[in-house]
Amino acid sequence: MRRAPALTPRAFFSGDEAIIAQVLALLPARWHDVYGELGTKGQADGPKVASSKTAPLPVSEHADELLGDIVAILTSWEERVAAVARLHIDTDAWRRRRAHVAAATLTRHLAVLLALPAEPTMRAVSLTTAATLPRGARGLVHEAAGYAEVFLDLSGADAGLEVLSLLRRCRRLLGETPPTARRLDGVACGGCDFAELRELLDDDGAFVGARCYECGTEYTTTTYAELVDERKRAAIQAGYRRRTVPRAADGDQVARRV
Ligand SMILES: [Zn+2]
Repeated sequence: MRRAPALTPRAFFSGDEAIIAQVLALLPARWHDVYGELGTKGQADGPKVASSKTAPLPVSEHADELLGDIVAILTSWEERVAAVARLHIDTDAWRRRRAHVAAATLTRHLAVLLALPAEPTMRAVSLTTAATLPRGARGLVHEAAGYAEVFLDLSGADAGLEVLSLLRRCRRLLGETPPTARRLDGVACGGCDFAELRELLDDDGAFVGARCYECGTEYTTTTYAELVDERKRAAIQAGYRRRTVPRAADGDQVARRV
């Protein structure tokens, strides 16, 4: 039983570890920003419709629910990392402090986190999501409160996706839009040779590749890095040629045999 459809089902690539570390560093401050929205965007027992001073939110979400999820998700991964890395964790701290501490623990042991094997992990999900789980899934349905606690088989890869998803939910609740794609100056496309490459960004604004606006060729982070290396090598070789083959006024026969 996997939860992939609810999250981004993209494959992990080598840059992910750095991106997840960045997101973990951001989450404690985002927790504080979302906390500041309590009361303005409705608490758990408030009205179901979220209100915003700026634009309407694409998905209504309660600040209190999100704060709870940040703490629950980070601390649950912290517990699993602590079990593997034999760490002592302080489970009594106030919840904001807990989110902060858990994010720091996960950053320090990121390799352990991302390598965790799939294991049943408790998550609070909506009743709609709970209804889609396969028969025999373990958990508890809280009908009146409108959610279910279920055990999902979650691995380190899921941890990465959950962390990215938490930041996305914070940004959505705070009414922020991800940064726009920039033009990648000075790198000519391998397909058409025009320097018309633009970044491809995921929902979190993280760089996931490039696309040529001239011929449509798409690059992943890996093939884009290869293209940049190739262009650099070509530029260096062109430089060597310029330096090692000087133009002699009276012909190359003379220049070579001095
Ligand atoms: Zn092109």
